[in-house]
Formats: sequence, structure tokens, C-alpha cells
Amino acid sequence: MSDKLAALQQIIADVKTHQCSLRAGCLQAVPGEGNPESSIVFIGEGPGRVEDEQGRPFVGPAGQLLTKLLSSIGLRREDVYITNVLKCRPPGNRDPLPPEVEEHHSFLQRELDLIQPKLIVLLGRHALHWFLPAEQISKCRGKAKRQGPYVYFPIYHPAAALHNPNLLHDLEEDFLKIPAVLKKIEELPPTEISPSAPTKATANFPSQLTIF
Ligand code: URA
Repeated sequence: MSDKLAALQQIIADVKTHQCSLRAGCLQAVPGEGNPESSIVFIGEGPGRVEDEQGRPFVGPAGQLLTKLLSSIGLRREDVYITNVLKCRPPGNRDPLPPEVEEHHSFLQRELDLIQPKLIVLLGRHALHWFLPAEQISKCRGKAKRQGPYVYFPIYHPAAALHNPNLLHDLEEDFLKIPAVLKKIEELPPTEISPSAPTKATANFPSQLTIF
């Protein structure tokens, strides 16, 4: 087993055994899954009912749409890494509270430190607000932004698109841009990604740079 896979398995084990304010109200914690060598990490909000039952991210209706969108750009789930800002389902699927996201953030930070993806696709407003709190999803969707060590690509959440054909259209369109965004990133001068580089917008990094 590669060192990276072993380190990922440790993060997964730590997610599964952690205690937090949401644990009592859900069936199990849901770690991220996928390829730790991937150039792309997809970050959603948190587990829903089906994810809570199965212990895997994005396996319910929103996950089926995500899988379909991935195949529209020639990717399979196992080619990328898929995770959430929250690892435990909030009661009744309510929106995550900021302290809950704070509580879980060290797992996400460890996932990103390990994988060091070229591109972080932010699925919906909760993932967006953690990384780029000044942005609005309807305004910044489909535009890649480099901030600090990472390039972020915010798009609508698949669950939102399931209920709104206009959002679905925008989501499909934005998804198709991902290969070109990745190609552009590969052409940019490299940034230094240091372990545990803070990912929040408040961190002491040069101001955001829209690159596409
Ligand atoms: N929605 C999310 O944000 N994450 C999941 O894992 C499933 C649905």
C-alpha cells in the first residue's frame, strides 16, 4: 500500500471513530472516498439520509446526479475524491451550523493536505461559504478562483439542481468546463502548497485571483 493510501485510511478511521455534537443524532460518520492521487476533489455539504445509512458520500439521488455529471466529462467516481464539509448528518437534513463545520474542518484540512488537488470543486453554498465566504453561488458559479494554495471552482449543488431545471442546466454547463479549467491550471506557474496551509479566505494570503 502506498504511503498516501495508508495516510488516507488513517483519516477515514479517525472520521469513523470521532465524537462530535452531531454523532448522537446520526447513524454513522461518513468519510470522504475516492482516489487520493486525484487532481480534483469535490466537496459537498454533508451526508443526507442515504449517505447516513450507507456510510458513503454522495450515494443518494444527488450522488446519482454527480456520478452522471462525472461521466459527462469521462470520469468515474473512483477517478476523483469526493467528500463533504460535514462528516455527520445534521438532524432532519437541516443546514449545517457554523460551529459544526468548524468542528469537522480538521478532517477536510487533512484530506486536502494529503491529496493536494489541483482543483477543488465546491458543490453548493455551504462548501463555498467555508472557503470563499464573501462569494455568492449564483454569481461565482462556473468561475475558477485561485486563492492561496488552491484553485476553487464553485458550482451548484446537485441536490438543488434536482428540483430546478434551470439550475440543472447551469450545473451541466459548468461541469463541462472542468477539463479545460484543469488544463489551464496545469499551464499556470506552480504555487507552493505547504502542509496545513490555511484554506480559509481570512488566511493571510494574497487576495483572490480569478483565473478564468
Ligand atoms: N449532499 C451532500 O452535500 N453530500 C452528500 O454526501 C450527499 C448529499
